[in-house]
Amino acid sequence: MPLNASAAFPDLGRDAAGGKPARAGKGGGKPAAKPGATASAAQKALQKMGLVRDIDLALHLPLRYEDETRITLLRNAREGDTVQIEAEVTHSEVQLRPRRMLKVTVDDGTAECVLTFFSFYPSHQKTLAVGARLRIRGEVKGGFWGRQMLHPAFRAAGGELPTALTPVYPTVAGLPQAYIRRATATALLRADLSDTLPPGECPPVVRNLGAAGLPSLLGLREALQFLHHPTPDVALATLEDHSHPAWQRLKAEELLAQQLSQYEAKRERARLRAPVLGTAPAGQGLAQQFLDQLPFGLTGAQQRVVAEIRGDMARSVPMHRLLQGDVGSGKTVVAALSAVACIEAGWQCALMAPTEILAEQHFGKLVGWLEPLLAPLGKRVAWLAGAQKKKERAQMLALVESGEAALVIGTHAVIQDQVQFRNLALAVIDEQHRFGVAQRLALRQKLAATGMEPHLLMMSATPIPRTLAMSYYADLDVSTIDELPPGRTPIVTKLIADSRKDEVIERIGAQVAAGRQVYWVCPLIEESEALDLSNATATHADLSEMLPGVMVGLLHSRMPTAEKKAVMELFTAGVMGVLVSTTVIEVGVDVPNASLMVIEHAERFGLSQLHQLRGRVGRGAAASACVLLYSVGDSGRLGETAKDRLRAMAETHDGFEIARRDLEIRGPGEFLGARQSGAPMLRFADLEQDVMLLDWARELAPRMLEQHPQLARRHVGRWLGGKAEFLKA
Ligand code: ADP
Ligand code: MG
Repeated sequence: MPLNASAAFPDLGRDAAGGKPARAGKGGGKPAAKPGATASAAQKALQKMGLVRDIDLALHLPLRYEDETRITLLRNAREGDTVQIEAEVTHSEVQLRPRRMLKVTVDDGTAECVLTFFSFYPSHQKTLAVGARLRIRGEVKGGFWGRQMLHPAFRAAGGELPTALTPVYPTVAGLPQAYIRRATATALLRADLSDTLPPGECPPVVRNLGAAGLPSLLGLREALQFLHHPTPDVALATLEDHSHPAWQRLKAEELLAQQLSQYEAKRERARLRAPVLGTAPAGQGLAQQFLDQLPFGLTGAQQRVVAEIRGDMARSVPMHRLLQGDVGSGKTVVAALSAVACIEAGWQCALMAPTEILAEQHFGKLVGWLEPLLAPLGKRVAWLAGAQKKKERAQMLALVESGEAALVIGTHAVIQDQVQFRNLALAVIDEQHRFGVAQRLALRQKLAATGMEPHLLMMSATPIPRTLAMSYYADLDVSTIDELPPGRTPIVTKLIADSRKDEVIERIGAQVAAGRQVYWVCPLIEESEALDLSNATATHADLSEMLPGVMVGLLHSRMPTAEKKAVMELFTAGVMGVLVSTTVIEVGVDVPNASLMVIEHAERFGLSQLHQLRGRVGRGAAASACVLLYSVGDSGRLGETAKDRLRAMAETHDGFEIARRDLEIRGPGEFLGARQSGAPMLRFADLEQDVMLLDWARELAPRMLEQHPQLARRHVGRWLGGKAEFLKA
C-alpha cells in the first residue's frame, strides 16, 4: 500500500502553509510577508502533543479521512458535499466591499463555482490566475448565486490521484495538517513496528480476516498503515466506530500493554517488604477493647473487610488495598480498627484526608474512640494540617518523631518532608481519588530508611465499576462494604425546577421545626465567576430572611479555617438548622441528624459528586430527602448529559449503579483522570465494548511475562514509554 504522504494538499489559503497568513488589513493594506519555515515551531507543537518518538507518531491516528482519490464533476456536486474538482479559472478579482476578498470563478465544463478567500498572498493570486487549471478541494455551498466554496484548498491540476484516503489528524495551533501528515508518514516507515505478540498468539477478532479483504495475518504494521492510509473502498463506518479489524488489532495491543504493566507492577510489589503486623487472637487485645466500647456492632460486611485487611497486614508484602463502600457504609470504623491492629503491634499509623474539615472530623471521632485505649500505653493521636500554629505543629512533629503519636491524622501536611515517622507501618488514605500518584508515593517513602514500605489502605466512596477495576487495577486488591449499617431509611430524591424554590424553602422550615437539619449546596461562591449562578452568599442571605428564627450558617472554601471550624461545630452540635455551603461539604461530613439535602443548579454537578452530596443525609433513622433543584437556563431545556445524570440520581441510590452510569455517560478517560488513578488512559480501547479483547489480554499477560519477558518489555515500552513507571504508585 503506497504511503501517500505527498498526496496531501498543501492546503494553501487555509492556515496550513506554516503560520497564519495575515488577515487583510482594514485599510486594504498589503498582507504581511509570507512567514518563513516554521519547522521548529511545528516540532515544538509535536513535542507538546507527546509525539516524540516515531512510535508515538505512528500511534497518532487520524480523526477522519478525506477522499482525494477521485475527481467529482461540478454538475454532480451537491450542497454540503466536500468534493475534489478539477477546473479552469475563468475570472479572478479582488473585491474591497463589504471587505477585502479574492473572488475566483472556475469552470470544469459541467458547471461553474465561485471560490472566495478572505486572506491570501500575492503568490496565491498568481496560482489562481485566469486560465490556470487547478485541482480544488472544499465544501460546496449552493445558494442563489450558484455554487460556491469558501477557502478551498487548491493546487495546480494534474498529477496522479492518491490511491488511499487522506488522513486528517488531531492537531493544535502551529502544527499544520501537511506537516503532521509528512511527519507521520515518515515515522510510519521508520518506526520499529515488528510484532511483539508471542508467536502463535493472536487477538480473537483478527483471526479470520479473509472476509474483510485484508491479509489473514494482520500485524501491527499492516494495521497501522491501513488506519493511516485506508483504501477508498473501506466502509468508513467501521473506521469511525473502531470495529474494523485494523482497529481491533490496535485495541488488543493497547489492552495487552496495559495488562502487562499492571501485572509487572504487581510482581514488583511482591518483592517489596513491609512490617508484619500480627494481631491478638479474636476476642482479645486492643481490637476487642475497641469493639467493646463502640456504641454499635459491626455489620457483616465491615467484619469481612476488616478480616481481609488484617490478613494483608499480617504478611510481609506491603498491602495495596482499596476499601470501597458507598457513602455512609461505615468505612471510618474499619480504618480505625486497622489502625488499632497496627498500633497493637507496636507501629505507627497515618490517616490522611483531602480536606481539613474531613480530617478534623476523623480526628474528633478517632480521638474519642482511641484515646481511652492509647492513654494506658502512654500513646496518643497527633494532628497535622496546613493551617496549624507553628508551636503546635512543632509539638506534633516531635510526637510523631518520637513515636509517642501512635496515630497521625491530617491533610496533605502528613506527607511533607519535615514529618519524620519513627516507624510508620500503615498509611490510610481517605477519599483516595482526591489524591494523586505523587502523594501516594510520598507516603510510601516514609519508611524508606528501613528498606521497607508501609501497608497502604485506600478508601473511596466512588466505587470502581468492575470492568475498570479489572483493567486498571490488576495490581490492586479490592475490599467492598456492600451493606449499609442497619436502621437507615432510604433517601427520597426529587427533581424540582428552580422556579419552585419557594416551596422547597417552606419544606426546609418544616424540617427544622421538626428538629431536623438541612444542607443547601450551591455550585459557585462569587458573583464574578458566573453572574447567573445563585451564589452561596446571596442564598445565605435569602434563606436567613425567609426562615426567621432559624440559624442559617455559611461555609465556603475561601473562609478562614477557624471560621469554617466554628460553623461546622455549630452544625454538628445541632444548634444551626441550615447550612448553606459550596461543595466543601462534599466529602465525608457526618451529621446524622441532617435529613434534607438541597442541591441548587444540580445540573452543573457531576454524577458521582451528586451521589456523594446526597450521601450526607440519610445517616440517621429519620426519613431523609434530597432535592435536586435544576435550572433550564436560557435555552429553556436541559442538556442531554445533565438530563441523564439527574435521571440516574432519581432512579437509583446504589453507588455501584451510579458509577456504572457515570462511566457510560462520561467514558473511562474522564472517569479516572490520570491524576486520580495513576494509570495511563486507554486511547483506543473501550472497556465496555472491547470486553472480548480485554479478556484475551488478561489471559495472555501473565503467561507472556513468564515465557517471553523480552517481548513483554518491548511491548510495554512501545505502548507506554515512560508512563509505565507511573503504574507503580
Ligand atoms: P463512610 O463510609 O461514608 O465514610 P462513615 O464511616 O462516616 O461512612 O459512617 C457513617 C455513619 O455510620 C457514622 O455515623 C458511623 O458512626 C455510623 N456507623 C458506621 N458503622 C456502623 C454500624 N455498624 N452500625 C451503626 N452505625 C454505624
Ligand atoms: Mg468517609
